[in-house]
Amino acid sequence: MNNSSERAQIPLKVRTLLISIQIRRAKSGIKEIASSMFKKMWNILIDFDGTLHDTESIYASKLDGLFGLAGEELYHIFLVDIHRKVVHEQYPQRHNDLDLHWRLLLQHLGEHYDSDATNLLAVCFKEANKSILENPKLFHEAPLFLDRVVKAGHRLCLSTGGQNSLEKAEAITRVLGTNYFGNVLGEEIIGYLKHEPSYYEEALKKLSWKAENTVSIGDTIITDIYPAKVVGMKTIWVNRRDEKILTEPERTPDYETSNLTSALDFLNKKQF
Ligand SMILES: [Mg+2]
Repeated sequence: MNNSSERAQIPLKVRTLLISIQIRRAKSGIKEIASSMFKKMWNILIDFDGTLHDTESIYASKLDGLFGLAGEELYHIFLVDIHRKVVHEQYPQRHNDLDLHWRLLLQHLGEHYDSDATNLLAVCFKEANKSILENPKLFHEAPLFLDRVVKAGHRLCLSTGGQNSLEKAEAITRVLGTNYFGNVLGEEIIGYLKHEPSYYEEALKKLSWKAENTVSIGDTIITDIYPAKVVGMKTIWVNRRDEKILTEPERTPDYETSNLTSALDFLNKKQF
């Protein structure tokens, strides 16, 4: 039996349906090709602590009960009242100086600054840092975000504050079973602190990326948004704690979101 006699045996209604399905498939294929041709691919610098990784809850669990405070409360005082409001603003060059942080924290709590108190804090922080690398706790939407970012054709570089950038990237790769990061940068690799525009300038140089094609995504205005804007990058603020938006234009992100899922939707749809 030839093809034309085979076709004649298929009822007209079914043939019409099959043809319309083929046309629809062809149209959606063309649409997909066209959208991928015209969609902008971004270079993305993404922060670790508080953005991909729930660092706060790990510290809170290790600090729980210290100085009679709940872990969440004590870590919040450390992070917001001491680290961000005092150290970032008055001692930016001493961003990683833990002894300064202990001194300011104990003063804030009305506790004595002595070796017992500082040793206790040092042990808790050491345990938290170890736990972050051994049992990382990613935010629930982070794995799907990383997968969708890479599949959409964007380029990802993990860009962390503090120390252990490579170890943090390795920890994520180990738990997810996939390496999503084409590059990893951090303060110890670049040689500048993340609140300095020079950090971002140097990152662009190292990656051979252009500022206008690059987006900085992070949870902290002073380290992820402001200095990236200074060098001409686009910025997405992942405001998980519903912090108050700042009014100064140089500290205002191009986009604010409470999670990474809508950050990716924004990148895929918008051209800023
Ligand atoms: Mg962060």
